[in-house]
Amino acid sequence: VFAHLVRAPEDPILGVTLAYNKDPSPVKLNLGVGAYRTEVTMLFSVFCYVDYRRLCERYSLCCLVHQEGKPLVLNVVRLWNGNSSVTPLSFCIICRARNKEYLPITGVADFNKLSAQLIFGADSPAIQESRVTTVQCLSGTGSLRVGGEFLAKHYHQRNIYLPQPTWGNHPKVFTLAGLTVQTYRYYAPATRGLDFQGLMEDLGAVPSGSVIMLHACAHNPTGVDPTPEQWEEIRKLIRSKALLPFFDSAYQAMFCLHFFALSIVDHEHTRIYLHYGFASGSLDKDAQPVRSFVADGGELLVAQSYAKNMGLYGERVGALSIVCKSADVASKVESQLKLVIRPMYSNPPIHGATIVAAVLKDSDLFNEWTIELKEMADRIISMRQQLFDALHARGTPGDWSHIIKQIGMFTFTGLNSEQVSFMTREYHIYMTSDGRISMAGLSSKTVPHLADAIHAAVTK
Ligand code: PMP
Repeated sequence: VFAHLVRAPEDPILGVTLAYNKDPSPVKLNLGVGAYRTEVTMLFSVFCYVDYRRLCERYSLCCLVHQEGKPLVLNVVRLWNGNSSVTPLSFCIICRARNKEYLPITGVADFNKLSAQLIFGADSPAIQESRVTTVQCLSGTGSLRVGGEFLAKHYHQRNIYLPQPTWGNHPKVFTLAGLTVQTYRYYAPATRGLDFQGLMEDLGAVPSGSVIMLHACAHNPTGVDPTPEQWEEIRKLIRSKALLPFFDSAYQAMFCLHFFALSIVDHEHTRIYLHYGFASGSLDKDAQPVRSFVADGGELLVAQSYAKNMGLYGERVGALSIVCKSADVASKVESQLKLVIRPMYSNPPIHGATIVAAVLKDSDLFNEWTIELKEMADRIISMRQQLFDALHARGTPGDWSHIIKQIGMFTFTGLNSEQVSFMTREYHIYMTSDGRISMAGLSSKTVPHLADAIHAAVTK
């Protein structure tokens, strides 16, 4: 009965990995999917980990030395249990959990509360006034989809405006949710920066009440974010036209340089203590655009993902929050969200949300998480510098300063699809056809190979 079907094309992002997996070349490099990969961990950070936490004596040095280019499970997720074996925190938590019963439709209550605090701030007036409803969803994608379905069912406007370009899955998620996808100008290829004027003109022209999708930070795929001043102008315009902001927060705290660090060397115990900004770190900084829209008292939606910032890609853990005008409206919204979720997947999985709740709740684990976030962010920033330097050293034609100016997991290289195909064919380097490369997939060892390939692609 299905013989009439035509073969569907592979997903443009996930399909890159499938092609990569089939390539037998020993020098192949996958820069397609946005997943963090390791460099060899530096000794300095090993000392930090060993000495930072109360449980420090029980840590093992060797478990902190990562192999290069491998997927990373964060130490807050995988803890050393002191019995000469590595026990994932997730396993301990699940052992402690009394049962594996169904969760409520809205998920783990603690996880929802802590997720709202993470994005809005613990002292957010919207939380204190119970004007926020948060539901656990299937990572960022699931949160966007539930939000989209809810809007299609209950909001008076069907148009949702996405930045051009945006993450490739956005248009599909919202179209299938029942919304009509439109775009607004965002990126200026000529400057490889924000097309702020185009953005303001386009948002100024959309029908009043439309939904506007905004990347909360580290815009994917361009790595170009508005400045705080530009965010303020965007906010004023959105509010003046009664547009409804829908934030996608898939990269909170992963890639900014806003951590402050205070190191104290304790000679007596030959230990180094590192204290990262608990309340003023990049977790807060990256949430600032969202918080400014909450501070003005207006409504908004936000989809959060813990795939990247907690390395829980496959656990599918995320949250959708809707900020309302009153506690009464928020509780009605929650009741309707349950009607969206129940026929879709009934209730979310228990495992990932329990891990996230444990990390967000415990101040030691939370602090350690911020250290690991910083380590990931620093490595990616170092990859940017190394790639820029390598192209400079080769005298590769063109201005490559956008590699160090852009932020986040990706560099939007400006390479065209023909150049991308050439690099895949001749150098076994895999990336999306729009020239986006995941900096998190690079290591010091593979930078020269990539630089050679880019140089050959632009000079051929
Ligand atoms: N939004 C953006 C902008 C993304 O880049 C991603 C992941 N690539 C997601 C949402 C969703 O990711 P996930 O469903 O894995 O949390």
